Amino acid sequence: MKIAIIGAGLSGIVAAKTLTEELGNEAQIQVFEKSRGAGGRMSTRRTDEFEFDHGAQYFTAKAPAFQAAVTTAIAEGHVTTWDGTAKYLIDSTLENDTGGARYVSTPRMNSWIKSMTKELNIQMSSRVNALTQNGAAWTLEFEDSAKQTGFDAVICAAPAPQAEVLLAPTGFEALDAIKNTKMDACFVVMLGFKEPLDLPWQTLRCPDGAASWIALNSAKPGRPDERTTLMIHSGPNWSNTYAEHNKQELQKEIVEAASDLTAIDLTTASYSTIHRWLYAAVSKGAEQPCLTDSSRKLIACGDWCLGGRVEGAWLSGKAAAEQVISWA
Ligand code: FAD
Repeated sequence: MKIAIIGAGLSGIVAAKTLTEELGNEAQIQVFEKSRGAGGRMSTRRTDEFEFDHGAQYFTAKAPAFQAAVTTAIAEGHVTTWDGTAKYLIDSTLENDTGGARYVSTPRMNSWIKSMTKELNIQMSSRVNALTQNGAAWTLEFEDSAKQTGFDAVICAAPAPQAEVLLAPTGFEALDAIKNTKMDACFVVMLGFKEPLDLPWQTLRCPDGAASWIALNSAKPGRPDERTTLMIHSGPNWSNTYAEHNKQELQKEIVEAASDLTAIDLTTASYSTIHRWLYAAVSKGAEQPCLTDSSRKLIACGDWCLGGRVEGAWLSGKAAAEQVISWA
C-alpha cells in the first residue's frame, strides 16, 4: 500500500509511526507537512536567547493505551512529569489547581514527536491544496501546483476547519461530522526575561479574558533555567472575538492584563512577541476516534475527533492507523 498522511502534528506522526511498525515493507508511507518542522501545536520556538513551547504547555494521560505510551516515552527520556505549583485564580484568591499528573516532553515540547520521526519519510514545506481520486488512486496537489499520485489511502491529520476545506470536494462520507465540530482561537504572548521572576506558582489559570492562563515555561523540567520565559494565553471566547484584530494591540492588552493578575510589571520583558493560533483548542469534538470513508479509503483524524488535547490527538492517530491496517 502507498499511504499519504497530511500533517506532521502528533496525530499524523503517531499514525505514520504505527503504520511503519505494523506494515513494515508492505507499505510506503509519506507524510506531508506545510510548515518547516514536525510538531504542529506541540511545537517550540527558539530565539538567540530564549526558548518557548508556544503551543501545548503540558498534557495529561487517562486512557490506558496513552498512559502506556507515556510510560514508554518517560523510560526513553522524551517525556517527564511537571510537578510545579499550579494555581487557579478565583475571585482574586489563589486556589490549588488539582488534577492528574502533568507531563511535558523534554527538553522541548516537540522532542517526543521528533523522536518518533526518525524512521519516517516527511516532506516539509509542502502544503496540500487539493485531493483527487482517479479510480482507486489518490493524487495530492500542492501549493506550488506540483502533484504526487498513486496513493491507495490518505489520512488527513489537519485541524478540523483545514480538513473540511481539503475533504469537502472529495465527497468525504463523514463531512457533516467535521462540520459539526468547533475549534477556538488562542493568542499566545511569549515573554523573555534575563532575570528570575518571583512568582508563587508555575502555572496560573484565570477566567476567560486577555490573560486566562500563565505558565512559567522556563520552570519546566529540562528547560534552560538561567533565563526566565513566561507564556500568557488568552481565553477562547476572548480570542474568538479578537481573532482578526491587530496583533500588536492585542499583545499590549494581554501583557497589561497579565501584569495586573500577577502584580508584576511584565512590560519590562527583554523579549516579547505574540502568536495567533486560529485553531488552538476544541470546544466541540466529533467524539469518534477518527472519521472514515471506507469506499474512498480516506480518513480524517486529529485532536478534534476525540475531545481535543494531546491525548485525543495520540488516540485519534492510532485509530486512523488501525483503520488503514484493516484495509491492508
Ligand atoms: P496539529 O498539532 O495541529 O497538527 C496538524 C498539522 O497539520 C500541523 O503541523 C499543520 O501545519 C499541518 N497541516 C494542516 N493543513 C495542512 C495542509 N493542507 N498540508 C500539509 N500540512 C497541513 N493540549 C493539551 O493536552 N494540554 C494543553 O495544555 C494544551 N495547551 C495548548 C495550548 C495552545 C496554545 C495550543 C495551540 C494547543 C494546546 N493543546 C493542549 C492542544 C494540543 O497541542 C493539540 O491537541 C495537539 O497538539 C493536536 O495535535 P494534532 O496532530 O491533532 O494537530
